[in-house]
Amino acid sequence: MRLIVPIKQVPETSNVKMDPETGTMVRSGVEAIVNPLDLYAIEAALRLREAHGGQVVALSMGPPAADKALREAMAMGCDEAVLLSDRRFAGSDTWATAYALAQAIRKLGPFDLIICGERATDGDTGQVGPGIASFLGLPAITYVSKIGELADGGVRVERLVEGGRERLWAALPAVLTVVKEIAYPRLPTLRGKQRARQAQVPVWGPPEIEAREDWLGLKGSPTRVVKIEKPQVARQGELIRIKESEDVDRAVDAVMARLREWRILS
Ligand SMILES: Cc1cc2nc3c(=O)[nH]c(=O)nc-3n(C[C@H](O)[C@H](O)[C@H](O)COP(=O)(O)OP(=O)(O)OC[C@H]3O[C@@H](n4cnc5c(N)ncnc54)[C@H](O)[C@@H]3O)c2cc1C
Repeated sequence: MRLIVPIKQVPETSNVKMDPETGTMVRSGVEAIVNPLDLYAIEAALRLREAHGGQVVALSMGPPAADKALREAMAMGCDEAVLLSDRRFAGSDTWATAYALAQAIRKLGPFDLIICGERATDGDTGQVGPGIASFLGLPAITYVSKIGELADGGVRVERLVEGGRERLWAALPAVLTVVKEIAYPRLPTLRGKQRARQAQVPVWGPPEIEAREDWLGLKGSPTRVVKIEKPQVARQGELIRIKESEDVDRAVDAVMARLREWRILS
């Protein structure tokens, strides 16, 4: 089997900061890691390769530093990695990102499955996997929790739905986005790390993937982040200080009075 795993490098924080002027993510000064949910996609692909043979290719679009994320994927066991990195990709929304990744996948040649993470912990849309499927005209199954047997030229899977599981079959090639239940990600091995350090990771730009430049980057993105707002958690707390032990009764009386005032206690 030939398996492609698109992985995204994300800031190692859930507190993603956005540039209010450009609407783009502020990545400088924040440690970057492999999107944690993509580790499950890598693991799922490696297990399929172990069961059926073949090759796992990790693919990422991002700044040159995303090379590190790809080498981590190789240290876990991916056979090859390709980075899409060029100023013309910068600022791509989910549509342009999915287009660029789909073009790169066309260039990579025949494959059986594309396995994505459920969502990226920064952008958090979960749109890129189905977007890739749409550009390539492939079936897409999201929230896959189990990959079963290969049958009748396709693959049987289970996907999580609210309150249960759905069993589906999709013809290959197909795109799956997987959830954490799929398999616990392995740690990189020392041998894997050595191999990853020495590996060639080709860097492709728009010409290499034969992409339309007007479909890339901020200019090629049909959506824009117009405004980013962080919800303000406003608490009007009241602090009752206790200095001496005799203050305790006074503090309890004050709390009880408040609870009665707010009709929480009668
Ligand atoms: C309406 C809208 C407008 C936006 N506008 C801007 C903008 O103006 N400027 C800007 O900088 N950003 C913008 N973004 C953010 C940008 O679209 C995302 O960072 C990027 O497209 C990936 O989407 P995501 O993070 O939601 O990934 P998801 O769709 O949540 O990721 C799902 C899976 O897709 C794969 N994947 C996602 N991204 C990549 C990648 N880069 N390489 C390889 N695999 C990947 C991974 O397997 C991942 O687990 C916008 C997003 C939205 C929703």
